[in-house]
Amino acid sequence: MTKLVDGFGRQIEYLRLSVTDRCDLRCSYCMPADHRDFSEPDHWLTFDETEQVVRVFASMGLHHLRITGGEPLVRQNVTSLIRRLNAIPGIDDLSLSTNATRLGKMAKQLKQAGVSRVNVSLDTLDADRFRQITKGKLEKVLTGLQAAKKVGLSPVKINMVVMDGVNVDEVDRMVEFCGQNDFTLRMIETMPQGDTGRASSQSYVGLHQIEKDLIRKHDMVPAVMSGGGPARYLKMRNSSATVGFITPISQHFCETCNRVRLSVEGTLYLCLGQDDKVELRPILRAGISDEDLQHVLLDAIARKPERHEFNEEPGKIVRFMSMTGG
Ligand code: SAM
Ligand code: SF4
Repeated sequence: MTKLVDGFGRQIEYLRLSVTDRCDLRCSYCMPADHRDFSEPDHWLTFDETEQVVRVFASMGLHHLRITGGEPLVRQNVTSLIRRLNAIPGIDDLSLSTNATRLGKMAKQLKQAGVSRVNVSLDTLDADRFRQITKGKLEKVLTGLQAAKKVGLSPVKINMVVMDGVNVDEVDRMVEFCGQNDFTLRMIETMPQGDTGRASSQSYVGLHQIEKDLIRKHDMVPAVMSGGGPARYLKMRNSSATVGFITPISQHFCETCNRVRLSVEGTLYLCLGQDDKVELRPILRAGISDEDLQHVLLDAIARKPERHEFNEEPGKIVRFMSMTGG
């Protein structure tokens, strides 16, 4: 099997597939409150086109697929797409990133379609604060989380973007909530992606001090978690409660990057923090064969940039995180 190895010897095994750039929330760090400039439906990859890309990636050793967005659960019939992608030989880990507003209704069908685990965005447990950050209702997310747990989506990881003056005072409460509910809390540093991300980066919090404080307060020790992601984990010595830290800004992890991203329009982004990309939609619509697509993907991976430059060039990435799914 030809493997997907980039110019720095990194093997690409993980695709983050954005199935829509739309969302029913407007998180302050992700998408502008008045944002309406969404991709046209004609430009969305069809399910057949999406399946072809994933199938060809999987034929070269890619095995972890994450469905993301925008909010992936607003894409019509996303469950049937997931069922098809899960049936592709080689895909052995299919996960979902969601804001959970629709999980209450959809958790069961998603599990049946092949989703094994979910990452849920949740920055606060305070309903007013939640509304301020996302323009949405906390209640729906909490219902969605319980539904995920009930149907056995496991693990449930909670992604918390930690911001000074916004929610940094809730870290202990979130640790406790996740411990009580058997969720894994992952704190994330704000990335200067798009105008929204840059504005939120004014409230940037480096996670190192929080990590040190948690080790001291809760007697935590290093832990390992499945998932192929960049988080570093700590676990409480006397319980299974686990906390992760994703530190793209204070301690980047580009040397172990194993992923690329595909937008709903079929743009293959080779790095979250760079503009290097390949447009797949035109060649898919021209009827490219699987064999020729293999060559296109191999050439693309060979051009994957070494690292992001969020610190050196914070103004570089103008697209919103909702286009590539984080
Ligand atoms: N809508 C889904 C959700 O919220 O989980 C999936 C897409 S969302 C873009 C994926 C992740 O990106 C979320 O965990 C969100 O918190 C994170 N994110 C968005 N903008 C960010 C930023 N500027 N810095 C850091 N993380 C960000
Ligand atoms: Fe929507 Fe997720 Fe972006 Fe929030 S982080 S606006 S839920 S896509």
